Amino acid sequence: MRIIYPGTFDPITNGHLDLVERSARIFEEVIIAVAKNPKKRTLFDCEERKFLVLKSTSHIANVSIEIFDELLIDYAKRKGINQILRGLRAISDFEYEFQMALMNRANAPEIEFFYMMPSQTYTFLSSTLVKELAFYKGNIDAFVTNEVKMALTRKMNKLSGNEVIT
Ligand code: ADP
Repeated sequence: MRIIYPGTFDPITNGHLDLVERSARIFEEVIIAVAKNPKKRTLFDCEERKFLVLKSTSHIANVSIEIFDELLIDYAKRKGINQILRGLRAISDFEYEFQMALMNRANAPEIEFFYMMPSQTYTFLSSTLVKELAFYKGNIDAFVTNEVKMALTRKMNKLSGNEVIT
């Protein structure tokens, strides 16, 4: 059975990776679907985000990476995959995920959402936090792969001090 793991991945963190590793032990293939979503302001464009996911997951055999630019359920239907994975960190994720799952279920009852919790170490980890830390030159070694760390450093060096991090 295959499962889609959708997200913004701006950038991929060790929390995301924790979920990819867990799900890859259960499902035959995990398709990481990077949302293009041009309305959402991201630090990395979708090709950069895809590249960093690719580099960070190269040690896992049954993972593939795609960019999608449509409604998640339309994408899943088009691929003929009825399983979608999302992560639950603190309780704060719950309400949004609950709403999204039920709304999607109304439109695509054949699709099931699966939720996994990361290791406790990553419960409070988010891409936003990592970007903030990187911006202020904090230590992000424990939170991202080396590839992501280098990409963040390069990106942050380009940013002027006045720019807002999204
Ligand atoms: P989105 O904009 O779709 O929420 P994200 O890249 O922020 O995209 O997150 C994608 C998925 O990964 C979400 O289900 C989110 O809850 C989950 N996720 C993000 N960070 C972590 C983490 N540290 N541990 C577990 N799951 C996480």
